[in-house]
Amino acid sequence: MNPQDAWLAAYNQLELQLDRATFDTWMRPAVFLGVEDGVFVIGVQNSYAQDMLQHRLYRTIRRVLADTFGRESDIRFDVHKAEAKASAPLLEAEDAPLFRFLAQQTKASQLPETSETQDSLFKQVQRSTSRPELLGIELNPRYVFDRFVVNKSNQVVYEAALAVADYPATLYNPFLIYGGVGLGKTHLLQSIAHVCQQKGLRTIYIPSEIFTNDLVTAIRNRTTAMFREKYRSADVLLVDDIQFISGKDTTQEEFFHTFNALVHFNKQIVLASDRHPRELKTLEDRLRSRFQGGLVTDIQAPEYETRLAILEMWTQERELNLSKDTLITIAERAPSSVRELEGVFNQVMAQSRSGQVSMPQVEQTLERFTEVRTYAPLDAILEATAQVFKINVSDLQGASRKSRVNQARQAAMYIAREMTELPLSQIGEILGGRNHSTVLHGIVKVEEDIIADEVYAARIKKVRSTIKS
Ligand code: ADP
Ligand code: MG
Repeated sequence: MNPQDAWLAAYNQLELQLDRATFDTWMRPAVFLGVEDGVFVIGVQNSYAQDMLQHRLYRTIRRVLADTFGRESDIRFDVHKAEAKASAPLLEAEDAPLFRFLAQQTKASQLPETSETQDSLFKQVQRSTSRPELLGIELNPRYVFDRFVVNKSNQVVYEAALAVADYPATLYNPFLIYGGVGLGKTHLLQSIAHVCQQKGLRTIYIPSEIFTNDLVTAIRNRTTAMFREKYRSADVLLVDDIQFISGKDTTQEEFFHTFNALVHFNKQIVLASDRHPRELKTLEDRLRSRFQGGLVTDIQAPEYETRLAILEMWTQERELNLSKDTLITIAERAPSSVRELEGVFNQVMAQSRSGQVSMPQVEQTLERFTEVRTYAPLDAILEATAQVFKINVSDLQGASRKSRVNQARQAAMYIAREMTELPLSQIGEILGGRNHSTVLHGIVKVEEDIIADEVYAARIKKVRSTIKS
């Protein structure tokens, strides 16, 4: 790969690896100026950026560049007056970085076979064969239309979802549901996915973070062609928590092309977001307009009657013996998010196993659950954990078993479980390809450790507050 393309590829990787603020402030304006005596010369906008990149971020940038360029090179940051970037009109597919990247790979494989290219081709093949099969996320069998309680507040969105499931790619494309955390977006997306799957349609349900992660892996392993083939072969593509792609240029770029390809072939796209696309400040305009091109429906917090009906459904399903009064108290006082309602319910259910639940017990549980829970993207969790434990994100994802690294990694697992909705297997995947049971073990370990070790507990608290700030 030539130095300029290697820099471009590294730049795109860094955008995915660094936290958003760091990338936007220091890296985004950086431009490739050339190579002098084997040193990459990068233009930056001022001496602060120069200092930051040369000192704090140097190791990360150098490592990523070494990956894309195929060998270690030094980098020099020169202060350079940036020309105003021409605002790029709608990119043709071939202009997109990833396409250029792919074209470059094809060219590389046509080079005369020196031992060096053979060697790198061999590595490429090795990498692609050792790559795990890309899979969508398994659907939760409980997230089906039959288990979704419908009432005034959510009738419209429920019926729209049902219609999309019954007539994919004919009525609303894309179909986008937006609304706060714990109101049933994932439940509805997966309900649609279940119906489509049962009809034999190729259905992919995926949280946007996994899409991003898949993309990073594909770029790293040079399997972007496979990545595209996977997503573009879907009859129905459901992407959850799409808000997390805003601000991530490479992901947005790729998603834009995936979106167009699917719509072109008359395939259904369903999206969920925590807010209306127009409120996603760092979403590219061309995506925003596409997201709004079908049906955009909000999902409201359930009113009292819905909350009570949901509680009754859960009580019946589990054949519990909870008094009507208990259910009414919970429905009246629980926070409006159904997820929080579920938290209260599960707690009360556990108490009921050891006899009748008393009203003060219910009250106490309610109090504990009215604290607000925050959600965060995984990259922010990894960054904050690395920062507080004074290690690198790559250590969290690496093989080291040093106790400091291990403790930090387990903390990241614990917080990821708390602040994301990702299945444990996916949390493990991002933390260096660890499996479901390793993550579960890590979480249990943290739960024990924070009781025994005050310093550790304080660090975890610090990670949380770093993420929220
Ligand atoms: P979101 O994706 O909007 O954050 P989820 O779909 O994960 O929310 O919903 C949180 C929990 O609440 C899930 O267990 C889901 O089954 C349940 N839930 C939400 N709304 C309803 C509803 N109307 N009827 C039954 N269960 C619901
Ligand atoms: Mg969700």
